[in-house]
Amino acid sequence: MKDFSAILQRREQQHLYRRRKTIDSPQGVEIRYNGQQTLSFCSNDYLGLANHPRLIHAFKKAADEYGVGSGSAHLITGHLRPHEILEEKLAEFFNRPRALVFSTGYMANLGILSALTDRHDVIFEDKLNHASLLDGAQLSRAALKRYHHLDCDHLESLLQESRNQHSIIATDALFSMDGDLAPLPRLAQLAAQYQSLLMIDDAHGIGVLGETGRGCVEYFGLNDHQVPILMGTMGKALGTFGAFVAASEDIIEMLIQDARSYLFTTAPPPAIAAATIESLAIIDDEPWRRAQLQERIEQFRKGAKQLGLALMESHSAIQPIVFWEAQAAVTASEKLLAQKILVPAIRPPTVPQGSARIRITLCANHTTHQVNQLLEGLASL
Ligand SMILES: *Cc1c(COP(=O)(O)O)cnc(C)c1O
Repeated sequence: MKDFSAILQRREQQHLYRRRKTIDSPQGVEIRYNGQQTLSFCSNDYLGLANHPRLIHAFKKAADEYGVGSGSAHLITGHLRPHEILEEKLAEFFNRPRALVFSTGYMANLGILSALTDRHDVIFEDKLNHASLLDGAQLSRAALKRYHHLDCDHLESLLQESRNQHSIIATDALFSMDGDLAPLPRLAQLAAQYQSLLMIDDAHGIGVLGETGRGCVEYFGLNDHQVPILMGTMGKALGTFGAFVAASEDIIEMLIQDARSYLFTTAPPPAIAAATIESLAIIDDEPWRRAQLQERIEQFRKGAKQLGLALMESHSAIQPIVFWEAQAAVTASEKLLAQKILVPAIRPPTVPQGSARIRITLCANHTTHQVNQLLEGLASL
């Protein structure tokens, strides 16, 4: 039997022990933590929709009409009208033939990769992909080949080794821990050249990037032939919960038939779907949120550079500052918290050994004053 208590103790000594914080308010740029108003630079609620009155109203209205639980899996009797409408709206929003809603992004990635490949196939992934893409490849039993972060030459050499096999290239579009972008145009070109299926996980680009918030595909001016599988989550900029895949008719039907994380799980509450329909409308109705987020990002980067902080190559809402050692990152996070500024420390195994960091996420609702407060906090470290 393993000595769990010893394992946990060791984790604590290595500054790798993880603890949750209980928040006593809705999500937002100011949250209540430990009995105090605290300035938050943590959440993925990039556009400030999680507590938006229109979403709350849509959610309540749907709860009145459809109740709370969906009652079963989508294929039994859990697929309610709001789920169906949401899928139609998502397909329309992303200008793709079909969309399919999953209960979470983690499950969507497991489902897509395991339904579309088997042990005879190959999955190519960026080394820094989200855990759910890596776990999905494990579950599929396909051969997993990881290329160096953003390195298309490395990817091409791996593609050459597996020319005659069915394959998927799967990548985060905007990397969740570094904030940088995958080279999607080149990846699309390689996928076409080697007849591989390109799948992107745009969890952090949806709602934020591109002229109209359609995400990285729009940002790079690509189309659905170049990027046949678009996966995105609804718990981040869309402010609700769950995830979706937008793709061709055949791919969506394959997922409905074979994605085990779709088949063998309860459908999300219909009110969540109704609230997400409202999010999509707000993305179109309130473009100023995207513009304001961009302004705050630029303000932060300019201020941080003046302080001499080493920023990463990120122009997204995700702005990490690397401290290398886990302990240093934890100490920085604690010192900021003492000034009532919440910025999480991100440690291995979430990021590679020796690249512990604090990760700042900016939101449209942060004021210029609040960004200045953060900069002052960072200056004091
Ligand atoms: C958050 C995230 C997921 C998981 O989505 P959930 O809906 O939270 O399960 C998947 N991929 C990436 C890149 C993410 O950032």
